[in-house]
Amino acid sequence: MTGLLILPEWLIISASQLPKRGWGVRIEADRITEVGPNNDLVEKFPHDEFLRANEQVLSPGFVNAHTHLYGVLAHGIPLTKAPDGFWPFLRDFWWPLVEDRIDIPMLNAAVEWQCQLMLRSGITSFYDCLEAPNSLPGCLDIEAQTVTRHGLRAILSFEATQRANLENGLLGLQENYEFTRNHRPDELIQGLICYHTTFTCSADFIHQAFQKAKELGCLVHMHCSEGTYEPEQALKNFGQRPIQYYDQLGVLGPNMLASQCVQLDESEVALLAERGAHVVHMPLSNCEVGGGIAPVPKMVAAGVTLGLGSDSYIDNFFEVMRGAFLIHKAKGLDPRLMPANLVYFLATEGGARTLNLEKVGRIETGWKADLQLIGADFPTPAGEWNLYDQLILYCNPERVRMVMINGRILLQEGQLKTDYDPNARQSLHAQVERLWQGAH
Ligand SMILES: [Zn+2]
Repeated sequence: MTGLLILPEWLIISASQLPKRGWGVRIEADRITEVGPNNDLVEKFPHDEFLRANEQVLSPGFVNAHTHLYGVLAHGIPLTKAPDGFWPFLRDFWWPLVEDRIDIPMLNAAVEWQCQLMLRSGITSFYDCLEAPNSLPGCLDIEAQTVTRHGLRAILSFEATQRANLENGLLGLQENYEFTRNHRPDELIQGLICYHTTFTCSADFIHQAFQKAKELGCLVHMHCSEGTYEPEQALKNFGQRPIQYYDQLGVLGPNMLASQCVQLDESEVALLAERGAHVVHMPLSNCEVGGGIAPVPKMVAAGVTLGLGSDSYIDNFFEVMRGAFLIHKAKGLDPRLMPANLVYFLATEGGARTLNLEKVGRIETGWKADLQLIGADFPTPAGEWNLYDQLILYCNPERVRMVMINGRILLQEGQLKTDYDPNARQSLHAQVERLWQGAH
């Protein structure tokens, strides 16, 4: 079978290693079948097609380990009064004015737009958390249709919550259950079980979520301690902090995928590591909601499995990496914190591990061909000692030249190769205007 050789100037096999100059890969079907020096590959496979990528870096695709595709609908929404804290943000703004009013046409427009944006940003895999209680049931299947058309690798979920009522919460859990059961773990699109928080879901509801996940063999996702509100409520209602509460419920373990984890104390960091829970860090949206700065360097030191997410605030993944690279240095008064290679690892292989995506996140023989070419025409010379810094500090989606997912080229020279809607922006505007009517 003929393969495709990609022959770049730089190859990132894994951000846990130094990059290799003059190395490339061979792709056959959906897999990477060979990695080695460009000259050796050309000699060994003279009949393969080849793509020369001078002054470009061949990198694993980014894994956006937490987003809300519908979130774009609220960007710039007019408000007469800005929320003055995390709880008012949810109660007075996000729930009544955004999530409760989202319907299927709004969702479709948002997902179409965001899929295009992700491909242009070098994102090859993502985890989405949809909360739109009035679009149940069936909204995940509808979302999956658009994601499939774009060829992205994704885990889709619905954020079940009892905040409206128990019946609606159970409908949300069922939506996840059915969707996950209908998508096998080796498919491009998968599901998981998802619920909101300890302050919107009872212990019984949380147990039901974990029970369903156990049956299906999948992860359970929740938002956790995004600001001070959840730990304060947990201390008041359960006499302990959220991570300790989860441990007491017997659900803290390797199938827990906890997003945010901003307001943790030292004992919670230790417990997360000890029990093998997975955590997603959202540096920029934490700033947006005034939630604080997550103790990420401490979680890294403790060995917590970590990934990075955009939270659908600023979706440019280079910006997300810059956030993770910078804010912890400022908070910890230490420029050595969060070195560039670590941040790049979290954005790629770390995210894939966090989402339990098998053989994703590295460019290595036998791994899935999810990768991107990024322009390496930096203002100063690149070397193996500074390539990760160059990529994080000076790159933007405009430099992403090619994106391949599962062996298919979906973006080339800035042009989408998918069956995309060229009028996505106009469609999005029309739906956003419907959503914004009456929001102020
Ligand atoms: Zn979120």
